[in-house]
Amino acid sequence: MSPRATDFEKGDLIYEGKAKRLFTVQNHPDLIWQEFKDSLTAFNAQKKGSFENKGAVNRDITSLVFRFLAKQGVRSHWVMDIGDCEQITRRLTMLKVEVVVRNVLAGSTAKKFQFEEGTPLERPLTEFYYKEDVLNDPFISDEQALMLKVVSKQSELDELKRAALDVNRVLIEFFGGIGLDLIDFKIEFGRDPKSGQLLLADEITPDSCRLWDRVTREKMDKDRFRRDLGDVKESYEKVHTLLKSAWESKV
Ligand code: UDP
Repeated sequence: MSPRATDFEKGDLIYEGKAKRLFTVQNHPDLIWQEFKDSLTAFNAQKKGSFENKGAVNRDITSLVFRFLAKQGVRSHWVMDIGDCEQITRRLTMLKVEVVVRNVLAGSTAKKFQFEEGTPLERPLTEFYYKEDVLNDPFISDEQALMLKVVSKQSELDELKRAALDVNRVLIEFFGGIGLDLIDFKIEFGRDPKSGQLLLADEITPDSCRLWDRVTREKMDKDRFRRDLGDVKESYEKVHTLLKSAWESKV
């Protein structure tokens, strides 16, 4: 029988990040209780903001995306939603790396090579960033990832790239179905401590993806906050409403 929300009780705070708080789950050492906060940060928390309902919207978007991915055979840490802005997830051994996939050049890589933002790529680009706030999450090469022991061997980096490209294919379809182009995104992975299986973790939201309206090219993601474009809350809520109805029409 599948577990129910009432089977779980929130435990102690383990960690508070920029957008989420993580708690233990009483009597379930293999699970985590994640709470999505209303806060919004950019540039490694140098710019701070928030909007009402953001935690609930991002919790829902993440869970819709993870459930859609699961239907397409891509597994994540998601177990179930609880309340308005919380989630039960599997407790994983997280890899100290952020994987970015780009379909269109924008943000840091466009700037680095002086490409015009919006330049489409012939094939998706995968990049690794070392997850270390004090270093500002720097870009790392495969060899640097091995030096830093992010993983132990090259084949694991290849596995990460393959998994990220699988996520990309599914997300292009899901967001494409609501008229949004997936420009780029950041994801994180962990391993199940028992089976060693690689699972998608963290979140997939307008905080971690660039999403542009296919027709108007309007930005529907955290760049609205980073670049003071206005209507941040409205954009996140629109992505949420559209994804929810796309999901409901599929199930
Ligand atoms: N991203 C993220 N967290 C980070 C850095 C990047 O979620 O710490 C996302 C970002 O929202 C974008 C993609 O990863 O969708 C690529 O970001 P980029 O490297 O272009 O950096 P940025 O321009 O956001 O600084």
